[in-house]
Amino acid sequence: MSARRTWAEPWKIKMVEPIRMTTRTEREEAARTAGYNTFLLKSDDVYIDLLTDSGTSAMSDHQWAGLMLGDEAYAGSKSFYHLVDAVQAVYGYEELIPTHQGRGAEHILSQILISDGDVIPGNMYFTTTKFHQEYAGGRFVDVIIDEAHEPYSDHPFKGNVDLAKLQAAIDTYGADRIPYISVEANVNMAGGQPMSMANLRAVSELCRRNGILVMLDATRALENAWFIKQREGGYSDRSVAEILLEMCGLTDGATMSSKKDNLVNIGGFLALRDPELARKARALLVAFEGLHTYGGMSGRDMEALARGIREMVDGDDHIAARVGQVEYLGHGLLKAGVPVVRPIGGHGVFLDARAILEHLTQDEFPAQALTAAIYLDSGVRGMERGVVSAGRDLVTGEHHYPKLELVRLTIPRRVYTQAHMDVVMESVVEVYEHREKVGGLRFTYEPEELRFFQARFQPIQPWEF
Ligand SMILES: *Cc1c(COP(=O)(O)O)cnc(C)c1O
Repeated sequence: MSARRTWAEPWKIKMVEPIRMTTRTEREEAARTAGYNTFLLKSDDVYIDLLTDSGTSAMSDHQWAGLMLGDEAYAGSKSFYHLVDAVQAVYGYEELIPTHQGRGAEHILSQILISDGDVIPGNMYFTTTKFHQEYAGGRFVDVIIDEAHEPYSDHPFKGNVDLAKLQAAIDTYGADRIPYISVEANVNMAGGQPMSMANLRAVSELCRRNGILVMLDATRALENAWFIKQREGGYSDRSVAEILLEMCGLTDGATMSSKKDNLVNIGGFLALRDPELARKARALLVAFEGLHTYGGMSGRDMEALARGIREMVDGDDHIAARVGQVEYLGHGLLKAGVPVVRPIGGHGVFLDARAILEHLTQDEFPAQALTAAIYLDSGVRGMERGVVSAGRDLVTGEHHYPKLELVRLTIPRRVYTQAHMDVVMESVVEVYEHREKVGGLRFTYEPEELRFFQARFQPIQPWEF
């Protein structure tokens, strides 16, 4: 590969989807109607949508062509076998169990491996992963390194497993109560932070010695492979395809939300090495997802997914541009002096709302307020990841007060341009410069479960912003 001086996209645009810039008055009305919660906005009222990178990717012409070629046979679809081949070639797992999306794979994996009272260590929780572990009777134990919780630690691999914490979990609960460790590549909740190959190898060796399986949450493993290439000694000359295969080679299987790395709008899979485990998974698949040759996907979905998997590692330019765009936004904000979680992660930029709105207490929901203020300013939609998302303690009824009170600006793959990133930067800087005018919020409606999705708010005092 020739040395590329910038992260410029390795594609040009063939089809466009118009978006609408709203007026400030329209956005004030939309924000009021949505109860100052960006989850409740209509996408038509959003200018640049950075709510999530899940299922929001743009597909290539090759993938769209694949939709027409999808084989909709109920059993033995050609597209299924294309998917099997792609997963074997790119991830290296022999056994493929297709699912409707990542949580479908997590459900099946948890049901076949977890018994009542088991413990599943992991490098920070993910909402649906933890849910399915608990639903199967297990308990999640966090074994990520402490630096993952520090917004300004520049540790290059904040997603690493703390081996002493993992050993302590084995000593405390016994290896026979730990069916597997769930290791997530490029940890989402830590801000898209990678783990190193050396760490994954050490985890794998420790687990093997103790008869514990290693299951990879491979949702963002490609982004992780890119950071290994950039930051870990001995990998700068390797392709991301080789690094990804080496990572998977240290594990016994993987769950995948194909709505992220794999460049499709829906889909996922469970991949395994052990044919006996795969047999058990397929037995459940028929009940919960669909026949073993389609899981929860149509033939055309599987065809587009098979193509997306190969495309994402067809050279390093795609991932260089993907992470390069996120870093462009992140470094621009850092340069402007805006407090942002460091290092910049693989899928989004995380604003430190506690530091930005330091005149607000956590009870006034600074991250929720900052998310609303950015929307009011420009129509850019982000997501709260702070006290509102953390919810209440089931026993005391008090709010959980997470250390990190963040606004997440997540970048969809291959969707927005550098000029869009400049608009986001300008808007965040504008809000930052007038931050003292952004007031607090209070609940007008607070759901009992996963409250951040449906909650409604209003300003405690009218904002001058
Ligand atoms: C999105 C995600 C999941 C769940 O996948 P879905 O496709 O949304 O069901 C699991 N793990 C991680 C790390 C994710 O980001």
